[in-house]
Amino acid sequence: MPQGYVGRFAPSPTGPLHTGSMVAALASWLDARAHGGRWLVRIEDVDTPRCVPGAAETILQQLAACGLVPDEPPAWQSQRGALYQEALDQLVRQQHAYPCACSRKDIELVLAAQGHPHKRHGELLYPGTCRDGLHGKAARAWRFRATHEPVFWHDRRLGAQQQDVEGEVGDFVLKRADGLWAYQLAVVVDDAQQGITQVVRGEDLADNTARQILLQRALELPTSGYLHTPLVLGADGEKLSKQNGAQPLDIDDPLRVLREAASTLGLLAQRAGTVAQALAAWQAQWRDSYNLPRD
Ligand code: GLU
Repeated sequence: MPQGYVGRFAPSPTGPLHTGSMVAALASWLDARAHGGRWLVRIEDVDTPRCVPGAAETILQQLAACGLVPDEPPAWQSQRGALYQEALDQLVRQQHAYPCACSRKDIELVLAAQGHPHKRHGELLYPGTCRDGLHGKAARAWRFRATHEPVFWHDRRLGAQQQDVEGEVGDFVLKRADGLWAYQLAVVVDDAQQGITQVVRGEDLADNTARQILLQRALELPTSGYLHTPLVLGADGEKLSKQNGAQPLDIDDPLRVLREAASTLGLLAQRAGTVAQALAAWQAQWRDSYNLPRD
């Protein structure tokens, strides 16, 4: 069995877990346990305006009720700003990052003048205005200088992946104009600092992977393995969320909650009468489906 596996579940405390987020939690726990590895929880509370007071505590209680208990006290991103600043300083020194003076309006104007207002998942593709300097304006945000060569990686469920970050995403934000750290930088710094060897998370996040690999390379950090899990869809066919019908989980019946999440992962445990029995049965099925040795 491979030594040194460390996995994690990294929820944003914007509300309690629902069936969709429970799928990622269960999958990351199963993968860690099936590898004989450790499992950590990181509370991703950098985007403070979106965080809901008390949600992180609720999430930890929901996980515990389902038998998913981290091997270390959870890390909180809001307490790790100094690490993110160190990483940004390093990126700036090595010219992988640069200050940007553009407001959203400025970006829209440049894109409109170019005749192709690129949008991707509702985000504007940055036209690179400040790549060669601030043109006398004041810095607002910090951006990563994306490289043009495609990034190739292997996802254990989705297979071979590639993305040209410069062409498809553009120079992305590391520190926002409101002073908050961007998800991309925080996640890369934390995964490395916590020694994460496998990232297991929902498929909606797969598209961030190339940006994170570029950041890892620029910071000379190791690249972890990746596995993106199937999404639970809401009534409108979009990823399940509070807005499209996600129901609060009934943690008085954790076995039912877990069974629902497990079925999305193609796992069954009809005969299990307790959470512990169900988790053991799914661990065995997980080992079989990913060809991992049994105990
Ligand atoms: N905090 C992110 C979310 O809840 C997940 C980050 C990750 O797993 O990389 O969507």
